[in-house]
Amino acid sequence: MKCPKCLNDDTKVLESRVSQEGRSVRRRRSCVSCGYRYTTYEKEEELQMQVEKKDDSFEAFSRKKIAKAIEAACIKRPVSVGDIDAMVAKIERSLLERGERVITSREIGDLTIDHLKAIDHVAYVRFASIYKDFKDPDEFRQELEDLRR
Ligand SMILES: [Zn+2]
Repeated sequence: MKCPKCLNDDTKVLESRVSQEGRSVRRRRSCVSCGYRYTTYEKEEELQMQVEKKDDSFEAFSRKKIAKAIEAACIKRPVSVGDIDAMVAKIERSLLERGERVITSREIGDLTIDHLKAIDHVAYVRFASIYKDFKDPDEFRQELEDLRR
């Protein structure tokens, strides 16, 4: 996003507000170079985020992908499709509010874990065990003990 005053490319996001339907974002920005502050409105088509994966490759942010991962963790659990949709919407919203165009798969994973934890503990443990790629069983046990508290 170019500064309208000095055309510098580097701006800092001070505040982001996602519209009710999640179709646009209003952002307060500040130019890193000249300090000029201005507001931008970004529509859905401009909001496409990129995901940086563990292997350093990039892919387009996909709601569907997150929904699928959550669905897999929620198999045979009392979590409805509506619950999953709401969760994905919330995750997307908090990512948009960060105002970054590139997010890491880790950030998405961490957010997903937080949301699952609040909804269903079994689904949470399933997701966390795959996602965190536990190297030793102690780590996994620790996670379970944390949950019991
Ligand atoms: Zn500037």
